[in-house]
Amino acid sequence: MLSRRVDHFVESVIRDMTRLSIKHDAINLAQGFPDFPAPLELKRAAADAIMGDFNQYSITWGAKDLREEISRKALKYNHIEADPDTEVTVTCGSTEAMMASMLALINDGEEVVVFEPFYENYGPDAAVSGAVPRFVPLNDDGSIDENALVSAFNKKTRALILNTPNNPCGKVFTRDEMKLIADLCADHDVIAVTDEIYEYILYDGKKHISIASLDEMKDRTITISGFSKTYSVTGWRIGYAVAQKELTSALRKVHDFLTVGAPAPLQHACVTALQFPDSYYKELANMYGGKRKLLYDALIKAGFECRLPDGAYYILADIPEYFEMDDMAFARYLVSEIGVAAVPGSSFFKSESGKYKLRFTFSKKDETLLEATKRLEKLKL
Ligand code: PLP
Repeated sequence: MLSRRVDHFVESVIRDMTRLSIKHDAINLAQGFPDFPAPLELKRAAADAIMGDFNQYSITWGAKDLREEISRKALKYNHIEADPDTEVTVTCGSTEAMMASMLALINDGEEVVVFEPFYENYGPDAAVSGAVPRFVPLNDDGSIDENALVSAFNKKTRALILNTPNNPCGKVFTRDEMKLIADLCADHDVIAVTDEIYEYILYDGKKHISIASLDEMKDRTITISGFSKTYSVTGWRIGYAVAQKELTSALRKVHDFLTVGAPAPLQHACVTALQFPDSYYKELANMYGGKRKLLYDALIKAGFECRLPDGAYYILADIPEYFEMDDMAFARYLVSEIGVAAVPGSSFFKSESGKYKLRFTFSKKDETLLEATKRLEKLKL
């Protein structure tokens, strides 16, 4: 009765944990969205756009003024030159940009290289687009296993997904690592599809590099980002993809028939977001730096083992062995008995490596994180 396509994946575990969290009145450190308000100026811009009657379909690939701002931002921050008329597409979140890219690039049975741990959407993205994912585990310290990466490329490889900063482990890929990936993509005629949604959330002086800024990758990269995380508006569903003309044209075709377009008044408000001063981004990273420390201290105190992430807003923690529970059992116990929701590690791994891990987000008010700290202390009793 149903297509084979949907047999290849299950419902999102992250969104499921949010539902469980509501049911148990728990603190939701599962899903990565802020529980604090979006910037006032942005909310005003959105309300003004609705009252100003930006309420009908925008151009399918995005409002012109927004594409122009994205093009300016791409040059200034990502060092990517992109013509706003032919090389920028506004989508319904970076989620849609990733799915549309895969549908535009990949034929049934072709392969896509994905680093592990990975954001859970990439599996279903591959399943829906007919791609076969080739997972390449990162080393425990987050570095690339060069041999594993080289051997993941073959005649069927069509694309590679690069998520930096990475959700869930917070890895920020270095220029040398990008160079290695770029050389392999060039040698095997592979397109990199990036997910740079956390590009401004970096710690300890780490720098964001877009692989499309490397000369050899300019024409073989689809660079994806969005407004959800940088501007705390995950519910607006505005993202974008930047890519050379032919790639953009293929992506736009898929995007048009999937969604017609992203919400018009919110696109208009996103122009305001891209005009925020540089200090906004510094304050954002500083704010998350403080929250990272709060959650890290809480987890260490409660008996978890974990590392501070270099970017994004998650901590991937090892479940203390003395609980003798795997990630699924422990996540259920934590939400129902302790009152804190987290995501079972297996959602981010193809291998067994996630089986004794949980992912926590610190994209929450300090008071929420402090309440979670109190609840997690009960684990030590
Ligand atoms: N990509 C990554 C790595 C994410 O962690 C998330 C959300 O958690 C998304 C994409 C979703 O982004 P958007 O809201 O732009 O669809």
